[in-house]
Amino acid sequence: MDEKSAQVFLPSRERCFERLRLARFGETVTCVHCGSNEVVKRGTTGKDAQQYWCKACETYFNDLTDTIFGHHRFELEEMFYTVKEMRSEPTAQIARDLDRDYEAVLNFVHQVQETSGDIDEFELSEVCEADEIYVTAGEKGRENEDESPRERGLKKKGRGDFEGDKPPVLTLVRRSDGRVRFLVCKDLEDADEDIAEYGDGSVILCTDGYSIYEDIEEKEGVDGHLAVTHSDTYVIGDAHTNTCENRHSFLRQWLAKFRGVSKHHLQKYLNFLALKLNSPENWFEKLLCYNVSG
Ligand SMILES: [Zn+2]
Repeated sequence: MDEKSAQVFLPSRERCFERLRLARFGETVTCVHCGSNEVVKRGTTGKDAQQYWCKACETYFNDLTDTIFGHHRFELEEMFYTVKEMRSEPTAQIARDLDRDYEAVLNFVHQVQETSGDIDEFELSEVCEADEIYVTAGEKGRENEDESPRERGLKKKGRGDFEGDKPPVLTLVRRSDGRVRFLVCKDLEDADEDIAEYGDGSVILCTDGYSIYEDIEEKEGVDGHLAVTHSDTYVIGDAHTNTCENRHSFLRQWLAKFRGVSKHHLQKYLNFLALKLNSPENWFEKLLCYNVSG
């Protein structure tokens, strides 16, 4: 099979629009500006999106207005394909599949990743876990993922910080529903403050015995602290970080697929991973109906 014939199968454009409309509007289209249902169809856009006229606020909008798919040069089916594939394929591969400009695809991927973080915000409450993991992610990832042509700099020994290309990631889990948030840090000096910021005041935090978590219960946002040492043979009641360790294994497996992610984009990648882990059934629908205008 030569390269020309190695074409990918894209979903039909009409099916994509139907799915987008259903996720956004349900059965009745309402105005994205004022919420009125006094809406009439008024032709289509150059991208085949249905256009609407709102009689109440006298404004036009279309299927793509205020979605993650607005303001991109791609067809909707190409963007659906990208969002599905970015779960496991490097951006360069997706760009090749679509025969599209790499930078443009990368911009879209980054926007989806950033939006994932906005969709998935939640507070820590009651019993939660925190644990740290070091991820190898340097400038090098840029060369693979952003394909910068410049030469790789002197390789530094990983010292477990952002500068040393081993950024620490704090993994926070709310035990009641297993939701996870990943925080990429410059270092772990202020880990207690970084964590406490997300607490609602009721948090009982389970961590390992690492000194960065010491006295975290004195921070606003956190109510109590259970520290376990790794030498403990048994998990005592709530005092464990097993859920974090489970999420870490997903994180490692997932990042391995990308053959190196730039540390400058690591947070965005992990936002997307968190959305998938937190909403395994409906992460795609959540992206479809998210209003990017805020
Ligand atoms: Zn309106």
